[in-house]
Amino acid sequence: MKIAIIGAGLAGLSTADVLTGAGHAVALFDKARGPGGRMSTRRIETAQGMAFFDHGAQYFSARDADFMAEVARWEAAGAAARWPVAGADAWVGTPGMNAIVKRLAADHDVRWNCRIESIGREGALWQLTHAQGVEAADAVIVAVPAEQVADLVAPHCGAWAGLAQATTSQPCWTVMAAFDARVDFSADSLRNCGAIGWAARNSAKPGRSGPESWVVQGSPAWSAQHLEDDGDAVIAHLLAELGSAIGCDLPGVLAVQAHRWRYALSGSAGHTALWDGSLRLGLCGDWLIGPRIESAWASGRALAGLVTA
Ligand code: FAD
Repeated sequence: MKIAIIGAGLAGLSTADVLTGAGHAVALFDKARGPGGRMSTRRIETAQGMAFFDHGAQYFSARDADFMAEVARWEAAGAAARWPVAGADAWVGTPGMNAIVKRLAADHDVRWNCRIESIGREGALWQLTHAQGVEAADAVIVAVPAEQVADLVAPHCGAWAGLAQATTSQPCWTVMAAFDARVDFSADSLRNCGAIGWAARNSAKPGRSGPESWVVQGSPAWSAQHLEDDGDAVIAHLLAELGSAIGCDLPGVLAVQAHRWRYALSGSAGHTALWDGSLRLGLCGDWLIGPRIESAWASGRALAGLVTA
């Protein structure tokens, strides 16, 4: 089959790996400029060189044997390393979290900057509409966050659209700050401190370079309460909270940005993956299982198993 996958995050790419291996012709479409999805890495130019921030997922754990084997392959390829700061079973992408998605995407036909606006049927074929035109496919896989699923699938499967709408995500305000000197704190991370859900010295993760850089995430409750706040107000508040959490003045700020993830940590729909063989339409993504990188990968693999069964 010619299979179109909407969303080239970890879920879409883990499906693509298996489907390509099974002989299908796979094309992925992603609205972003480059690889990462919610595992992306941001670069910010500073007076002390380029600073790097994992501004989505911070680390991941590997518990299932198949996923552990996959992570071992990423490690062997230099795209992942353990990060004991976050736990005995914690891993990160190297040199940035996006390295994993970047590596997987390199093996596939991915069209970046290509937002699929709608999907429709033309006889037995699917038609995917985007700003530059229309693509035809025998099968369509939707691998995007739950909140973005319903618009695409509602005309074809009301039950799946309803399931996605009922599976809501938690937001996360994220502040990325590069400093002109080391932040005087003995640890490289902290959790659950006032408005802060998690903060980490990004530049201390394995394989990182550049100036001292920190990622500070608002807790889900604080982020939801302040979702419509101005980015500058969020930066001021979360950096003040970081200063009081570590109990000292922060060094000079070289560069700082805020990012609002409206859909950061997914809910769980209580499925693994969904495939309708008569429509040739499938769904995968973390939201079917739960808000973890391992879930996104497992959902993609499970969907590929259903398609090839
Ligand atoms: P995504 O990575 O969201 O990929 C979906 C892709 O679809 C995106 O690239 C998007 O651009 C694209 N897309 C959407 N709509 C369209 C469209 N219409 N057309 C084309 N493309 C489209 N997980 C952990 O395990 N540990 C953590 O510590 C952790 N922390 C997190 C912190 C934050 C702030 C965030 C945001 C996430 C965190 N996660 C964490 C969750 C983890 O990042 C996700 O579970 C995982 O990356 C989801 O992968 P996915 O492929 O399902 O979705």
